[in-house]
Parts: sequence; C-alpha cells; structure tokens
Amino acid sequence: MKIQYTDTHITVFESSLYRTTSTLIDLGRDLIVVDPNWLPVEVQFISKWVNDHYPQHQLYLFFTHSDFDHIMGYQAFPNAKVLASQALVQNPNKESILQQIVDFDHEYYITRPYPILYPEVDIVVPEHDFSIYINEIEILFFKAQGHVSDGLFMIIPALHLWVAGDYLSNIEIPFIDHDYHAYWDTITTAAILFDQFDDIHILIPGHGDVATERTEIKDRISKDKRYLELLKKEDVEHPSLDALALIRSYQNNPNLIKAHQKNIMSLK
Ligand SMILES: [Zn+2]
Repeated sequence: MKIQYTDTHITVFESSLYRTTSTLIDLGRDLIVVDPNWLPVEVQFISKWVNDHYPQHQLYLFFTHSDFDHIMGYQAFPNAKVLASQALVQNPNKESILQQIVDFDHEYYITRPYPILYPEVDIVVPEHDFSIYINEIEILFFKAQGHVSDGLFMIIPALHLWVAGDYLSNIEIPFIDHDYHAYWDTITTAAILFDQFDDIHILIPGHGDVATERTEIKDRISKDKRYLELLKKEDVEHPSLDALALIRSYQNNPNLIKAHQKNIMSLK
C-alpha cells in the first residue's frame, strides 16, 4: 500500500481508490488510527502495520465522519476505543450507510475477514468545541459540517497537525452533501483555526495530498472559499468558464463537473 507521508509521529497511507487517506498518529503509549479504508488488502496492510510497529499501544479509532468509505474498516480494529461526533452516533441513516458498504462489496465480489458494522463510539465528541488529553497530549475537535452533518476537524497542536476529514482537499472541490451555509461556516472556521493555531503546518485531507506548508493550507482555504462564492452564481446547465477553470485546477476529471452540478442543485 502506498505510504504518502511519514514523519516521527505520523504515517499517512493512501488507498488506490479515490486517493483516500488512512492516518496513524503515534502519541507515545497510544496510537490513533483515522478512517482505515477501502480494499480488504489495504485495511489488512494497515492493521498488520499497527500490530508490527505498535504492538503495546492502546489503540484509538477516530472517524472523521460517517461516509461509508471512511467507516468500512471499523471492525478490522476490534480492540480500539472509538472517537467520533455526537452527530455520528445519532445519524439517522446508519442502515443505508452500511448498505452502501455491502453494495460496494457485492459490486466488486469483495469479501472481508471482518463484519460490517456501524461504529460503536466510546468517546463521543459533543456538539460544542471539545478537547481531550491522550498520554498528556491535547487533542482538539471542531464541528465541520456542510459535506456531511457529522464531520469533525481534529487538531493536535503538539504535532502541528490538523486532520481535516473530507475538507480542504487539493484534488476535490467542496462536495456539499449536507448544506451550503454549513459548508461556508466550516471554511470560515477553518480560516479562524488556521490563524489561531499558528504552529500547524501539516494538514491531512480525506482524499488527496497531505499539505506540509502553511502557505499550502492557506491556499486551500482560500480556494474552497472562492469556489463556494462562485457556486452561488452558477447555472446547472452551463457551468461558467471561471468555474470550469477553478474546478480543473483541483483535478481535470469530468466527475468533478458532475459534482459541481450536484452542488448547484443542492442550492435550489
Ligand atoms: Zn470521503
């Protein structure tokens, strides 16, 4: 499996599908695994990596949000304590999320050596901003809605790290599956957090490349904001030249144009 990024405390694996990231964060005696995902061979690679490199660590699983691709590896780490948002716990669509995993596996004749279950959450992150200490390292959580209703940002100042879930990708435009205004608020929050935590220089998106420079993180925030501003003026049948150029600067992939049209429809 591709290892996209590594430093003393952080390892970022990249799936062959949608360039989805899975992250390991070494906190000394403890280890956080974020969104272990996609193919069984990939999830197994990550769990073997954990067993080989961190056999004594207390394991935590953090789910950035409940999209099926982000929770599909849950039961490959049965001894982990699970961290996720209150909204993920209360998500009314649990059955359909699990069905998406089952459908994906049927589509590609995939079998998994572990059951497909919706995460049981041990440490519930409440609606307001929240922090915990693991091995005396502060970990902060901030609500991140708009893509979905149960997303979280996780910030670990001591590691200069920001785990962004499905926000601030360099290869995907904002996917507004929940609510435009909530998405706007999340990007506004991102800009505030960027200024507030001026030591952070590593940002891990759910899909795409880790940003390792502050200028890159700032650019991603500005670019998503620009996209959201532009989106308000867009016509679903005829994407503007400005929008097309901006979308192609994320990735030249016709599926992003479809996602753009879906975003416009969500505004109607
Ligand atoms: Zn995703």
